[in-house]
Amino acid sequence: MKMNVSEKQRIRVMEGDWSPLSVGRHIVDGGLQEDPFYVMDVGEVVARYHTWRELMPRVEPFYAVKCNDDKLLVATLAALGTGFDCASKAEIELVTSIGVHPERIIFANPAKMASHIKYSARAGVDTMTFDSEAELMKIKQHMPHAQLVLRIRCDAAKARCPLGIKFGCDPVTEAPGLLKLAAVLGLQVIGVSFHVGSGTQETGVYLRAIQHSRAVFSLAADVGHANMRLLDIGGGFPGALHSDIREVSQVINGALETYFSDRSVRVIAEPGRYFAAAAYTLFAMVHSSRRVTQKDQEGVEQSHTMYFINVGVYGSFNCVLYDQFTCYTNEGVVAETIKPKCEKPQPCSVWGPSCDSKDCVLPNTFLPPLSTGDWLMFRDMGAYSLCITSAFNGFPVPKVRAVIDSSVWSVLKDLWPLSDSHFCRGDPMTGPQSADQPILPSPTGTPMPCLSHSTE
Ligand code: PLP
Repeated sequence: MKMNVSEKQRIRVMEGDWSPLSVGRHIVDGGLQEDPFYVMDVGEVVARYHTWRELMPRVEPFYAVKCNDDKLLVATLAALGTGFDCASKAEIELVTSIGVHPERIIFANPAKMASHIKYSARAGVDTMTFDSEAELMKIKQHMPHAQLVLRIRCDAAKARCPLGIKFGCDPVTEAPGLLKLAAVLGLQVIGVSFHVGSGTQETGVYLRAIQHSRAVFSLAADVGHANMRLLDIGGGFPGALHSDIREVSQVINGALETYFSDRSVRVIAEPGRYFAAAAYTLFAMVHSSRRVTQKDQEGVEQSHTMYFINVGVYGSFNCVLYDQFTCYTNEGVVAETIKPKCEKPQPCSVWGPSCDSKDCVLPNTFLPPLSTGDWLMFRDMGAYSLCITSAFNGFPVPKVRAVIDSSVWSVLKDLWPLSDSHFCRGDPMTGPQSADQPILPSPTGTPMPCLSHSTE
């Protein structure tokens, strides 16, 4: 497999003790850094992959590219051997450009544009989802040899982003008709998929969804789809640094044993958040502040400080608007100061840099008193953030500074066919310093190799 990571995206191999916080601190310590940036820890992705394989050995992860299409993340997962869930022509292009075989891709958008279906056919991506008659007619016209997966609806009682309101047919009232129509059209249905909702708060929903899937497998066989062989359990897995998939994996493994003990059925999942969230830590600088005094509901005057940081809801914090980021305590926006502060936290709010009053990252929080030039760190910022970020009002999209621990690197490098010429060495303290070339010293003070992957 050929590994192509953007020329601009270099990975710093880290020796000794380090953390995203120490890397972030180092970047801002020189005083030259003014723009927000992410520290991306490749090792976090690798660790999560191993946890997944250990806890759910039967379920093959097909990473949902929509969650974060950073080429480095996609390439890391490709090197580890995951499959991919693509929702569009561009996502298929990205994944295949890295050298991923089309058989490792599912086109998991139930409502596809005709030109994207035609592209999928040309690219050799045969497996795709559907949930409507209109989609079946389009597929019949543009890709009659497609291997179809019927998306059914089964919603978690609580999810950060419910998806059933848009996609998935009812497994009882709608699935039989769609399966029959596919058979009449001579289209091949080979499996069932579902998505219980992104950031689901209920693990039992996977049991219900797998049970429904079993029933739909039987229905499909009854109407002539004799080769039902794929179960796709979608996404919904937690992604925060301290979240755990142990409980959900037990529910899934148990349900698979009960309803799909037949090993001839291949089981895949489409995790997005699980792989992307914790690997990216965002660093943002306070560039201004304003002290305000307001009367509370009881008419008592309360003072509070408004801090303005260099990235807001039109940038990386779009997840505040689109991904209900602040609603959850375990996976919400939590600002941490990157320099230890001994002062007591005070009531404050944190605002983005644009001139829009909706651009509020944290309307009501507590932080120790901050000065202009202080930096804040936000963990778990890799999911549904970077890929939606805009440069509204002229504020730049944060750059990604990628790091990997040398122990992880020594394993991963054998999977990435890179020659010595991909390493550039030199004293990192005196090397070129620009946003595209993250030059960091190793915490031990020894020069570290800087890996640059060529796109060609
Ligand atoms: N699969 C599909 C079809 C999706 O729409 C999504 C998210 O919207 C995902 C997978 C990824 O979900 P999550 O990030 O919750 O794992």
